[in-house]
Amino acid sequence: MKITYSIIAPIFNEKENLSELHRRVSEVMDSLGEAWELILVDDGSTDSSTDMIRELAKKDKRIRPVIFARNFGHQIAITAGWDYARGDAVVIIDADLQDPPELIVEMAKKWREGYEVVYAVRKEREGESWFKLWTASLFYRLIYRITDVKIPLDTGDFRLMDRKVVNVLKQMREKHRFPRGMSSWAGFKQIGIEYKRAARAAGETKYPFRKMFRLAINAVTGFSYFPLQVATFFGFVSAGIAILAMPVVIYLRASGSQAFFGQATTLLAVLFLGGVQLICLGILGEYIGRLYDEAKDRPLYIVRDAPEE
Ligand code: UDP
Ligand code: MG
Repeated sequence: MKITYSIIAPIFNEKENLSELHRRVSEVMDSLGEAWELILVDDGSTDSSTDMIRELAKKDKRIRPVIFARNFGHQIAITAGWDYARGDAVVIIDADLQDPPELIVEMAKKWREGYEVVYAVRKEREGESWFKLWTASLFYRLIYRITDVKIPLDTGDFRLMDRKVVNVLKQMREKHRFPRGMSSWAGFKQIGIEYKRAARAAGETKYPFRKMFRLAINAVTGFSYFPLQVATFFGFVSAGIAILAMPVVIYLRASGSQAFFGQATTLLAVLFLGGVQLICLGILGEYIGRLYDEAKDRPLYIVRDAPEE
């Protein structure tokens, strides 16, 4: 059977949300009147989500479960969704119902008008801590400034993509991934639609600060050399200061002044430059580590159970 829509939902310990997700997605997709599938990617859940996904798939043949062998992370789960999706249009949605499935109707309309990527822009966000709101806002703006790809502001992974776009993304097998950046990078005819991001339906966020931070580093290193250029910038600035300071110091020395001499000045200069050098080394390390991961070329994910056929 020809599938028109593939909905991808990454699942990490979402037992409280699964049946409601299934119910709301089914309702919305049935109203569109075309064949669809729901790909539930179980990202190594440790609660009863895995069994629930299997149960749901038994009852509803439109559900296709992809069960990972362990937790690989949200971005990788999305990637597996792309790999298994068969539809002409592919939608990524969070399992916690923060992204309202009802918006897919509007996305599908834009797609029918000829847009190849329809992304959802968060106009308002409900039920999130000021810390999350603030770091998220800062993150989107920082990424926008320093990356070479113009990734729309306040936009998550919730989007509909045409088959053409998904086929491009499937070829991009980079290990450290930032899916929304990859989708912007691919180009095509893109449009945003605004929505109000709801609070999490149930359960706790699966994105602790550590994971958010890693995602931010992936976004920056994956789409720009800016951090590496910062090192060059620091090099020029400190070399410039040193060159300017040289004649001043020689002059002061010759005229017998005692200004600028002493241990504290030397120590500070050494500490400052040592610090800058270590930071630059660390930045270099981030890129080299990524190169190493690419060279190893391990599979992006391991599935315990893939969907039938
Ligand atoms: N998720 C995942 N693997 C992870 C962390 C999260 O598949 O390691 C899924 C999670 O189940 C949810 C989506 O990614 O469907 C977004 O996670 P969450 O709602 O916790 O993030 P937040 O909305 O708080 O940023
Ligand atoms: Mg969420």
